Amino acid sequence: RAKAAGRGRWLCYDAELNAVQVARYTLAEELPTALHRGEFGLLYQPLVEVGSGRLLGVEALLRWHHPRLGTLSPDVFIDLAEESGAIGPIGRWVLGEACARAAAWRRRFPSFVVSVNLATAQTYDPRLVGDVLTVLADTGLPPGSLQLELTESAMMAGSGAPMEALRTLAGHDIRIAIDDFGTGYSNLVYLRTLPVRVLKLARQFVDGLKDGGSPADAHIVATLIDLAHVLDLSVIAEGVETPEQLARLRELDCDAAQGWHLGRPVTAAAIDDLLTRDVRV
Ligand code: C2E
Ligand code: MG
Ligand code: MG
Ligand code: MG
Repeated sequence: RAKAAGRGRWLCYDAELNAVQVARYTLAEELPTALHRGEFGLLYQPLVEVGSGRLLGVEALLRWHHPRLGTLSPDVFIDLAEESGAIGPIGRWVLGEACARAAAWRRRFPSFVVSVNLATAQTYDPRLVGDVLTVLADTGLPPGSLQLELTESAMMAGSGAPMEALRTLAGHDIRIAIDDFGTGYSNLVYLRTLPVRVLKLARQFVDGLKDGGSPADAHIVATLIDLAHVLDLSVIAEGVETPEQLARLRELDCDAAQGWHLGRPVTAAAIDDLLTRDVRV
């Protein structure tokens, strides 16, 4: 009986795995046309100054409104887009859309910053610098209002052309942020040589600041905030879900935060609303 149950499980596992592979294959095929069909959209999550509670800007988060599968998170399709090359046009669309929105928001709120995620493959695209500067010129968004988020592994792989592109962008006053900091292979000595201005602390560590959270993780957060400040970097804590976490971050002198406690990712119209109601500058 046990053997039969075991075999049943394997069959089930195989079937599921197969379904996932088929789904991935289909998604990869659908990706290039999804853009023309207008199936992509952006949500915007508030970035909040910890000390004052003031809105600093937003992070743009991509969604694929798939006709059969519903709304998909980029975790499901970004790597497929990178493998197939579809990330080029999709990434350019994200930048254009986010910067156009931010240019309008900045007219009401001059210090407003928009943060855009870059896939590793985009940093290897020789067109990246030209694309970003063109989008800024076309939308009228000042470079100082744009932040680009890269993962640690993208930064650490960074010698040669990608790093040169990031240096050029940083030289134009665009803010470079390391996303999910602490989850990759951090080389703290190397960090000093990178054109980075912002560290985004990964939610896994920020979870340690919850009531009953891991004291070791809480300690890591405190240490990383101090380290960032020694290196003259600004720190954004990700995944702040409770008021206790925000209070702890205030004690630890963290610069900024984002998370469900401060604001879920919402549509551009909802940010319009927020800015009309909240006119502190
Ligand atoms: P990320 O850049 O680290 O973005 C934060 C993720 O955490 C988002 O997931 C956001 O919805 C989620 N989040 C925010 N606050 C909380 C919270 O309090 N608790 C929890 N549990 N989660 C929270 P999302 O939108 O599904 O995006 C996943 C990842 O996909 C992003 O992680 C980013 O790496 C990537 N991504 C998103 N948009 C883009 C894009 O336009 N281009 C590229 N290349 N990657 C993108
Ligand atoms: Mg991000
Ligand atoms: Mg992140
Ligand atoms: Mg992430």
